[in-house]
Amino acid sequence: ATVLAIETSCDETAVAIVKNRQVLSSIISSQIAVHQPYGGVVPEVASRRHLEIVNEAIAQALEQADLDWTAIDGIAATCAPGLVGALMVGLTAAKTLSMVHQKPFLGIHHLEGHIYASYLSEPTLNPPFLCLLVSGGHTSLIYVKQGGQYDVLGQTRDDAAGEAFDKVARLLNLSYPGGPIIDRLAQQGNPQAFPLPEGKISLPGGGYHPYDSSFSGLKTAVWRLVQQLQETSPDLPVNDLAASFQATVAKALTKRAIACALDYGLDTIAVGGGVAANSGLRDRLQTAANSHNLRVLFPPLKFCTDNAAMIACVAADRLEQGYTSPLSLGVQSRMPVTEVMNLYNRMG
Ligand code: ATP
Ligand code: MG
Ligand code: FE
Repeated sequence: ATVLAIETSCDETAVAIVKNRQVLSSIISSQIAVHQPYGGVVPEVASRRHLEIVNEAIAQALEQADLDWTAIDGIAATCAPGLVGALMVGLTAAKTLSMVHQKPFLGIHHLEGHIYASYLSEPTLNPPFLCLLVSGGHTSLIYVKQGGQYDVLGQTRDDAAGEAFDKVARLLNLSYPGGPIIDRLAQQGNPQAFPLPEGKISLPGGGYHPYDSSFSGLKTAVWRLVQQLQETSPDLPVNDLAASFQATVAKALTKRAIACALDYGLDTIAVGGGVAANSGLRDRLQTAANSHNLRVLFPPLKFCTDNAAMIACVAADRLEQGYTSPLSLGVQSRMPVTEVMNLYNRMG
């Protein structure tokens, strides 16, 4: 199926056309510059900006794919989770287009999109596999049983991995979003310069949770280190701090993902979300996977962070299976990925 999808859950206005797992066009208009002065995303500003440019992005996606509406089998939009006002813009646009052009409508879960991003570079990938989902709001190990069926085996107890990158960047006086900047600085730093604590979740019977993670202690440790270093010199060793922090996160995530894949007998780890772009994580996880004979897949960099191609990829899959969403579907700021099948009805 050929699907046009709209993604407006946060600060990217994105529209893409995907034919099954093949990307025919992908438009991503980032609002980073709009929100940068505030040091984070301002929800009201995000909604207004989506509204201003969504129609143009839709036109561009059709033009880039060199298609008109007759070639489109379904129209989809992200409906949860995310900023309510922002989601509303994309979802309303998709519903309207679905009525005007008489095409099936599908509401898609944003995290299922991040899980599906690996299909865009590896179309032959099939469940079961393990997804390490590391984004701005989530850090989860997800057992992908089949399309639409997920078990969450591990998650963060506090900050998400991407959130930790953004918060540590702020401590280091770097701009928003911090992940890509820390990644760049870390490449010039020594990852062993500062030993930092990997957050662990204690279990009542002793020992540690094998798959859950915690990043708020690590963030506090970086903060203390920064205070301490500033007492002796105003010039922070930013590269070494970035490298040490990034290595600690990469190590924690790698350890959990490998343990989980081995415990559940899964031979493939597909990584998704913005932090899947991180070079330190990519290197460490690839090396560990090789030594355990596991396959690790990373989406192309532009499909790690928010995009509509991953949303269209999910929608194409659902449509092929005979599912659509009712036009009465609304947006939801939160929704577990285990409940995605509630978004659909069976056609016919
Ligand atoms: P969610 O998907 O959980 O709703 P989100 O959509 O805001 O959250 P994504 O777009 O998947 O998150 O990812 C954005 C996050 O990824 C930001 O926190 C950003 O700092 C981080 N990120 C992007 N590139 C890198 C990188 N190279 N290294 C580390 N982090 C990165
Ligand atoms: Mg974003
Ligand atoms: Fe996302």
